Amino acid sequence: IVTIGTELLLGFTVDTNSAHIGSTLATIGVRIARRTAVGDTAAEIRDAVDAALTRTGMVITTGGLGPTRDDISKHAIAELLGTPLEFNETVWLDLVARWQRLGRTIAESNRSQAMVPAGGTVLPNRWGTAPGLWLDGPRGVVILLPGVPVEMRNLLAHEVMPRLVARGAQGVIRSRMLRTAGIPESMLGEKLGDLEESFAPLSLAYLPDVAGVDLRLTAWNLAPGDADARLEAAASMLRARVGGWIYGEGDEDLAAVVLRELLEREEHLAVAESCTGGMVGARLTAIPGSSAAFRGGVVAYADGAKAMLLGVPPADIAKHGAVSSQVAEAMARGAADQLGADIAVAITGIAGPGGGSKEKPVGTVWFGFSCRGVVDSVRAIFPGTRDEIRARAVQAALLGVLRRARNETIPPGGTTI
Ligand code: AMP
Ligand code: MG
Repeated sequence: IVTIGTELLLGFTVDTNSAHIGSTLATIGVRIARRTAVGDTAAEIRDAVDAALTRTGMVITTGGLGPTRDDISKHAIAELLGTPLEFNETVWLDLVARWQRLGRTIAESNRSQAMVPAGGTVLPNRWGTAPGLWLDGPRGVVILLPGVPVEMRNLLAHEVMPRLVARGAQGVIRSRMLRTAGIPESMLGEKLGDLEESFAPLSLAYLPDVAGVDLRLTAWNLAPGDADARLEAAASMLRARVGGWIYGEGDEDLAAVVLRELLEREEHLAVAESCTGGMVGARLTAIPGSSAAFRGGVVAYADGAKAMLLGVPPADIAKHGAVSSQVAEAMARGAADQLGADIAVAITGIAGPGGGSKEKPVGTVWFGFSCRGVVDSVRAIFPGTRDEIRARAVQAALLGVLRRARNETIPPGGTTI
């Protein structure tokens, strides 16, 4: 894929076209070898398409097909292929008619839009003015699509996909994603490393984020039934090895999984948040229907608020500090009592950048849990910026709630939440 447009390089426009082309072609088993973005410069366009043709013999470009001076894709690529541009009557009449329907007379400057590389196939564009082009020559195929996303998508679906299938594209590229939390990428790698080979022809990718590490299995160029069966088998193997850290699949959110668990058990959750300032409550209430299981939360930031709203003994704060096992447990107990919840989680930590000490470095977070009357606390030290530390703390709090709600033991080798 070669995406063309100086706006892409300057960062004014995010290249969503490549992502869309990649996921769409995957459904017919076509693998993208490389994506390149270039500016609206003839030499850059020529170089990129030249290299891409050498690499794979099949290139899709987007952008630079409009009527303005900066739209030069067609010219640059025709030059590269040594194909002259010819005036195409059909394209021109189509343009004239389109303008007439809008009650206007077409400007002569639009004649260049009707110039087509000799021997090229015009891909009619009912969603805009610039048609796409399919150029098939000795060096391979170059498919030129407009940059406007809605036009690109429609041309891809209605003109390009059927032609690719007709040329013999077959199979599917299908993925399945298992979401983990509470275990670092390196540890997952250790536990799964020897499995990876046995997954062939599937591939396994580790995708780390503050929410955890997603494990993405991908089946390449297989018949749909075969792909699904192999993905299912591989997913089962992953679950057998690291199921203790897998909380969901696809784009499932941990907060939604927690709420579902509570709903099934007809139990209620409360939260007491200090350094996350309400972020756990926000994650939970972002899920529709959360009121059935989420009682509410207390954002107790100042020491006085922890004492007044959650009944944390000021002596505990004075003796152990606000970021301590004792205070986290008292906060959880207070939240469960005040809000009449079966389960409560409390978070108190040092999100930084200041406030750290030798014993309690930035990133230190104490979690308190009160689950059906049993209180416990866990400490974690998270890396990253203030934002990252807070996001990791939210995820860990949710994971801790899920494990306790399910009466699960914490598997060895990950975090101790
Ligand atoms: P063009 O076909 O070059 O005239 O592009 C028209 C519009 O499409 C531009 O205003 C861009 O904002 C948008 N566009 C171009 N390339 C891309 C791309 N790769 N992804 C998303 N939008 C794009
Ligand atoms: Mg452009």
